Amino acid sequence: MPIQILSETLVARIAAGEVVERPASVIKEMMENAIDAGAHDIRIECSEGGRRLIRVTDDGSGIHKSEAVLAFAHHATSKLQSVDDLSHIMTLGFRGEALASIASVSTLTCSTRHVDETVGTLVRIDNGKFISEESIGRNPGTTMTVEHLFARVPARLKFLKSTQTERGHIDGIVTRYALAYPHIRFTLHHDGRRTFQSLGTGNMRDVLIEIYGASSVEQMIPVGEEKTGVMGGMSVHGYTALPALDHGNRNKITLFVNGRPVQDVKLAYAVVRAYHTLLMTGRYPIAVIMLQVAPEEVDVNVHPAKAEVRFRDAESAFSAVMRAVRTALLEHLPAPEPPSVFSLPTGVPSHPSGTTGDSSSGMTELLSGTATEAGAVNGGNPMLRAWTGQQPTLSGAEAWERIGIARHVAPDATGPSTSDQPSYSDAEPSTLPVKPTMRAQLPALRILGQLATSFIIAEGPEGLYLIDQHAAHERIMYEKMMTARELGAATSQRLLDPVPVDIPADSAYQLHGNLDLLREIGFDIDHFGANTFLVRSVPAVMAQDDITAAIREIVADLEMGDAPLHKDMEARIVRRVCKRMSIKAGRVLAYSEMQALVRDLEACDSPRTCPHGRPTMIQIGVTQLERAFGRVG
Ligand code: ADP
Ligand code: MG
Repeated sequence: MPIQILSETLVARIAAGEVVERPASVIKEMMENAIDAGAHDIRIECSEGGRRLIRVTDDGSGIHKSEAVLAFAHHATSKLQSVDDLSHIMTLGFRGEALASIASVSTLTCSTRHVDETVGTLVRIDNGKFISEESIGRNPGTTMTVEHLFARVPARLKFLKSTQTERGHIDGIVTRYALAYPHIRFTLHHDGRRTFQSLGTGNMRDVLIEIYGASSVEQMIPVGEEKTGVMGGMSVHGYTALPALDHGNRNKITLFVNGRPVQDVKLAYAVVRAYHTLLMTGRYPIAVIMLQVAPEEVDVNVHPAKAEVRFRDAESAFSAVMRAVRTALLEHLPAPEPPSVFSLPTGVPSHPSGTTGDSSSGMTELLSGTATEAGAVNGGNPMLRAWTGQQPTLSGAEAWERIGIARHVAPDATGPSTSDQPSYSDAEPSTLPVKPTMRAQLPALRILGQLATSFIIAEGPEGLYLIDQHAAHERIMYEKMMTARELGAATSQRLLDPVPVDIPADSAYQLHGNLDLLREIGFDIDHFGANTFLVRSVPAVMAQDDITAAIREIVADLEMGDAPLHKDMEARIVRRVCKRMSIKAGRVLAYSEMQALVRDLEACDSPRTCPHGRPTMIQIGVTQLERAFGRVG
């Protein structure tokens, strides 16, 4: 093809792709414009996850009659006059690109009236083509209606996910802005139903309560102070959760820089880092952190959707956030409690990945027969953890120190280099360090005893077997549940009193959209209005469990996958249930219990890994032992 200059419409559509990725991005731009226009009340309505219709109404200043059409031209902005302005931007918008972009990929109607004028204006644009402009009567403020987004851009349309997923993105962005602008009342409607509203009281805590529910927010503590607590020209404020209210992924760390929500892996890591030794591996804090810096300290013009920023001094930003969060935590945690790895047999369930979560490297070495050096054994932390697990009577402080030590010896699994890696528990079974020559089936084993109330020691034809009782039990339950499912015999138990469970507003849609799937596995859950769900039945094995905690874990799991295959999701939930219900490490087992467990394990199809793919056992061959004792070369 010869070189040609692209047509204006095509250029506009290509550019639009950078700003408008999905319905949530339209809402983000519209909300920013409303905030820049000084609105106190912003109302967002969507239908079909924003594909069919998005309407954002504000009570801001409105647009002058003479500028109503101009606002839709490319690079038309009232917020930036000269190049110098770029270095101290105080508004959320500045490029004058959003309206033009959105109008080029949708059918857009703008109704607006400036506060100083008596007549309003109605402008219509259809996929970049100006249709009409007329005078109308209305209150001051602006209403933008966007219909059939991407209808003429099939490539984009195809890229959109399910209505549920798009709704999730919308809920996420609206709740984030509601947190950052607590003095503004945000109302969100999906398909005619109100799903979220902040009250506009000016208090971030009130917004948190709307999102997470009052009981969760009781476990959140204030960080810094608004406009004070300045550290090196930066101020940090917000809320962060006490370690007890942790979360299975990082999605609940929300960050703002100068009132803009940003995705900044480093800053998120600063928050995680502040919890060093306070959370188990694989668990993450819930936090809302607002960082204010002088406008010239940060470049907001590095990302088309303005989702990323660049700091002049990134180190200071990192340490300001970390210090503020850490300080708040230490103030509220005078006497550290031992983490749940110390919990007694029948006590609180321990954290899912706590017992074996960061033991991968040591395990690999041990399995491949190179774990003769002390370092390798220390790296294989399970010993150390198992040992600490045996000391349930330690005082909180003492236990604390032990964990601190254990963490130093072990490779720091929460370090920056690994922070973006999926945690070990997310790994696919195929990538796991299981010795390739191992036969899948287990030979009959003779039980010798229990070690550290966590491991069963057994002997088999190939030598010594150390079985992780928790992981083994998980495997057994998983296979039993999946078999029962396939035979259509999954047993569900009705709860005497249905349990109401509050789910964070921005996650509720996940649960809502998966109720049928959960029903198949044995959960009977009804939507009970707003963000509350009523749990009526659970899989029989779970009847004694903490239902609220279990449902929240499942929701966190659901969030991890973007519309995954039905079957994967089902298996994932079953795995989660099994993990919760398995015998915890730290429980003394009677000989007969160990025998039953090992028999059941022998009967499994894949006895050597737990459903999450971690090894259930370490096997040390006789030859390997002989070599370690220097008997053979
Ligand atoms: P930017 O926000 O970067 O200036 P936009 O394309 O988003 O660019 O908006 C263009 C202009 O239209 C803004 O600068 C503002 O003057 C005007 N505008 C857009 N939305 C509103 C609104 N809701 N209320 C008042 N003015 C608005
Ligand atoms: Mg804008």
